[in-house]
Amino acid sequence: MPRKTKKKPEQYSELPCVECRAQCCRYIAVEIDTPRTKKEYDDIRWYLLHENVNVFIDHDNAWHIEFRTKCRALGPDYRCHEYETRPQVCRDHGWPIGACEFFDSPHKAYFNHPEAYERYLDRRKIDWRYRRRPRVNRRPDVDE
Ligand code: SF4
Ligand code: SF4
Repeated sequence: MPRKTKKKPEQYSELPCVECRAQCCRYIAVEIDTPRTKKEYDDIRWYLLHENVNVFIDHDNAWHIEFRTKCRALGPDYRCHEYETRPQVCRDHGWPIGACEFFDSPHKAYFNHPEAYERYLDRRKIDWRYRRRPRVNRRPDVDE
């Protein structure tokens, strides 16, 4: 995710969430196992074939699936309308100021389409492709 500000964290006296337009409230990301088998590589291609689903690798080499979907609690003013009861993950995110995607991209690699992911695997010479099955002949008892 591109950096959204040129200002440094210490130049902010309070969280810059409104200026940021609440980027972290527009998706959820869940850590997944690092793929190691052909099936696991293929499963990630399956995820990426779906709209608004992305996969990324963070700077600790952990893999994540990301669903681009806005939180219901995010208001048009870019403020959280469940602020007092927001989930713990939201409380922990972005603190101290500077520890969020407004300042630095969390992605070492980001795949928003199967082709980008396939190129990544090919560059690493990973054998991810299944062989195509031969076409099954038509049943001999089927009338033409
Ligand atoms: S915590 Fe960071 S990414 Fe989230 S809204 Fe605030 S400034 Fe933006
Ligand atoms: S609950 Fe609030 S802080 Fe958490 S993602 Fe939704 S709008 Fe953002």
